[in-house]
Amino acid sequence: MSQRTHHTHELISVPRIGQGTWYMGENASHRTEEITALRAGIDYGLTLIDTAEMYAEGGAEEVVGDAIRGQRDKVYLVSKVYPWNAGGQRAKAACEASLRRLGTDTLDLYLLHWRGEFALSETLEAMESLQREGKIRQWGVSNLDLDDMRELHSLSGGQACATNQVLYHLASRGIEYDLLPWCQQQQMPVMAYSPLAQAGRLRNNVFTHPVIQQIAHAHASTPAQIMLAWLLAQPGVLAIPKASSVEHVKQNAQALEIKLSEEERVELNRAFPAPGRKTPLDMV
Ligand code: NDP
Repeated sequence: MSQRTHHTHELISVPRIGQGTWYMGENASHRTEEITALRAGIDYGLTLIDTAEMYAEGGAEEVVGDAIRGQRDKVYLVSKVYPWNAGGQRAKAACEASLRRLGTDTLDLYLLHWRGEFALSETLEAMESLQREGKIRQWGVSNLDLDDMRELHSLSGGQACATNQVLYHLASRGIEYDLLPWCQQQQMPVMAYSPLAQAGRLRNNVFTHPVIQQIAHAHASTPAQIMLAWLLAQPGVLAIPKASSVEHVKQNAQALEIKLSEEERVELNRAFPAPGRKTPLDMV
């Protein structure tokens, strides 16, 4: 997966902003709204959809399945396998169950959700075998810090890893110290999850911080949009905000057009500094 040339299957290109789905499918009364939001997102060009067998224990994949019915070929579909399913026959069964819920016969990208009991070599083998069977086009990982990434890369075939999906937003910049530069060096795109700090919930003062408020005002935009625009200014980074309303989806798509000035980036750096030393990978 390359976020610049983005050929995955012939006609699909991967946008730098996609759509997350965590917490979708949890509540039947929100289902129509979620499907409507995802479909609107596809229409706005947010055609990368990120889901996981974990989300609502398959329920999110079913929502995505409904949203993409009849337009599978427009979408770059990402799902994730639980660590305890990420090897051998369990991986095959987990992937087939995801495909069934999504109503498709192939995933564009399948990620190890986080590192667990299986050796990385076993997960790699399982991913390669799913690839050979045509069930997945590419594979990648999530929540792996630099040591784990180095270990993966040292394995035969490990360099085919298409992405590392990690927590990354304006107020959590630990990966800039070592993991992000390493991924950039490998030309491996990083998928930023919780790019809006879960609407500020992970960091209470993000949306209300005066600097972000003032920059949002200058662009006639919102703090959420500034957070996305800031992420997009980092080379090799994609963001997958989750939105369950059409209004939020639209705003997220519009963030693709916002260009922060050098001065604004300096101000944001000062207000939300990156740590100057190694910090353990942030997770939710
Ligand atoms: P986000 O940072 O994407 O925040 C989601 C929240 O932001 C929701 O409450 C949403 O509200 C709100 N929101 C969305 N758009 C806007 C907007 N334009 N203005 C204001 N608020 C907005 O959090 P997530 O944790 O959901 O991360 C995104 C995705 O990343 C997940 O859904 C999942 O796909 C993936 N992820 C992966 C993880 C992993 O371990 N690999 C871990 C965590 C997330 P509303 O829904 O009401 O629109």
